[in-house]
Amino acid sequence: MQVPAHFEYERATCVDHAIALLARWGSEARVVAGGHSLIPMMKLRLARPEALIDINDLTDLSYVRLDGDHLVIGAMTRHADLLASALVGEHYPIFHDAERVIADPIVRNRGTVGGSLCQADPSEDLSAAFAAVDASVVIRGPDGTRTVPVREFHVGPYETVVAPGELLTEIRVPVRPGGGSAYQKVERRVGDWAVAAAGVAIWLDGDTVADVGIGLTAVGAPHFHAPEAERALRGVVASAENFAEAGRLAAENCRPSADQRGPVDYKRHLAGELTTRALHRAAARARGLEGRVSTRRRSEAEPRSLRTQRKEG
Ligand SMILES: Cc1cc2nc3c(=O)[nH]c(=O)nc-3n(C[C@H](O)[C@H](O)[C@H](O)COP(=O)(O)OP(=O)(O)OC[C@H]3O[C@@H](n4cnc5c(N)ncnc54)[C@H](O)[C@@H]3O)c2cc1C
Repeated sequence: MQVPAHFEYERATCVDHAIALLARWGSEARVVAGGHSLIPMMKLRLARPEALIDINDLTDLSYVRLDGDHLVIGAMTRHADLLASALVGEHYPIFHDAERVIADPIVRNRGTVGGSLCQADPSEDLSAAFAAVDASVVIRGPDGTRTVPVREFHVGPYETVVAPGELLTEIRVPVRPGGGSAYQKVERRVGDWAVAAAGVAIWLDGDTVADVGIGLTAVGAPHFHAPEAERALRGVVASAENFAEAGRLAAENCRPSADQRGPVDYKRHLAGELTTRALHRAAARARGLEGRVSTRRRSEAEPRSLRTQRKEG
């Protein structure tokens, strides 16, 4: 049986209390949200915090709402709540695409959006989705609040800019009219981590790409982001040829590692192909053609694993 090392347990009653507890315990304390990543790491003794600060009573950090021209998501929002949110589906279907293929209902019922970002697993899905939509995160600590673009949030595998004593409290996504977004993932089996995945948010001005955001996961893209492909698309026609070229650039500029999920060439190929597919789907949504395009692509182009994952959602 895997048993964590000894630790003290504190239950925070509000954000200020959590920050006070973090200050009291210092750098050896860790926040526990859903616990789906931290507890297994503690059982394997990969993490040995002296104290766990449980933030599950901070229900005021569980929300999805509009705040002016931003969609704001509390850090304690569960995956299942993001998936169930009509507001999210209306503005950014990319998150529903991604949530349908994150783990399984048990993990989604408990795991949190904030915990997923802070875990900073290199194969984490929401990090790529938030990079695509150019979100920012709000971090609170003893010295106040700061806001950090999500494209600067991750500083390495399992590392973020959240310092000891700080708490991620909110994710802010700018809402802009006329866009479309989509997420495409290949996994070895339903509920598994990505072999590779790509997320896109696109805004069209007629047939021209007015703006675009592209996120990648599991393929070593710095900050889960594909800036070269984005730059190539801005101001050009939203055509199959240009989407394929953006996919090629995304593949060229990522740095996958070979592991049990596949060799480097395969992952690089997926990064390009999934970027191109996500661009097509996001553009179809921006044009209001979602049903027609997704039906065609499902029957003609998607590998079996992509069809399987939809059934699960
Ligand atoms: C079987 C299984 C399958 C999975 N499959 C996928 C998948 O396909 N795709 C995917 O993306 N993820 C997947 N996951 C990961 C899962 O989505 C995340 O582990 C989980 O949701 C992380 O969130 P949590 O709330 O459980 O975080 P916790 O485990 O509680 O915490 C994770 C880390 O974040 C820190 N933390 C948490 N909240 C905060 C906060 N508000 N401020 C500062 N630090 C914080 C903790 O201290 C800890 O270091 C899977 C997990 C499991 C167990």
